[in-house]
Amino acid sequence: MRHVLVLGGTTEGRALAAELVPAGHRVTSSLAGRVARPRLPAGEVRIGGFGGPAGLADWLRAEDVDAVVDATHPFAAGISRNAALAAADTDVPLLVLRRPGFTRVEGDRWLPVPSLAAAADLVPRHGERVFLTTGRQSVAAFAHLDGLHFVARSVDPPEPPLPPSFEVLLDRGPFTVEGEEALLRRHRIDVVVTKDSGGAATAAKLTAARELRLPVIIVERPPVPEGVPVVPDVPGALRWLEQLR
Ligand code: NAP
Repeated sequence: MRHVLVLGGTTEGRALAAELVPAGHRVTSSLAGRVARPRLPAGEVRIGGFGGPAGLADWLRAEDVDAVVDATHPFAAGISRNAALAAADTDVPLLVLRRPGFTRVEGDRWLPVPSLAAAADLVPRHGERVFLTTGRQSVAAFAHLDGLHFVARSVDPPEPPLPPSFEVLLDRGPFTVEGEEALLRRHRIDVVVTKDSGGAATAAKLTAARELRLPVIIVERPPVPEGVPVVPDVPGALRWLEQLR
């Protein structure tokens, strides 16, 4: 039996824990504690930061961790960097489990940008009514934009500062294309802003935007820490763990 630390907060993190626990591994899933009522994975769960890379390294040693799978969200770059540093420091094997980004298809009107700040710069050129699905911690990047109306969707209420004209829809995926199209029409949306998070649960908004011929400003992913192996799915992570023996 091995002790696997899954850095989670994602569908993939929960799916990996659900495979490893019945296979007899000790699994600890770690969540940041950002969501008030998170969906809890199988196995042990710890919630809250470790206190930087040094704190995480201490935790890996104290808990006798044999392997770490960083299954955090593609935009959670801070914890991924910390995991790379702590793994190097402790010699604990580290894998990044990162689902592929969204796939562009014929008819998409995507406008890729490198950051939330760049998305905020671009948005006024594409209309007045904006659908924002970048997550509740990202709304602040748009707070200075008056003259636009923002409809944001997030699991928990966004953190201030907020744009002057703003409404929030509290909801959690998966979403359907029909539902997303109805939402875009109901709120008379001109432009969608999203992150290239990937994943089936939230892809429907892109199909809906394509069908309505709406532009989508899409924030590109931060890079994975250098030198760390990456797999796109849970079977890949299971194979990596298997070959560690
Ligand atoms: P972040 O900016 O990369 O991390 C900031 C700090 O939060 C880290 O330094 C760490 O604190 C703590 N932290 C983050 N993830 C953690 C985890 N899984 N377990 C323990 N501590 C964690 O992270 P973020 O973008 O705020 O994301 C936080 C969590 O939400 C992640 O688990 C991620 O998978 C999930 N999530 C993020 C997004 C997104 O768009 N960013 C979307 C959906 C879900 P210490 O330095 O004290 O250890």
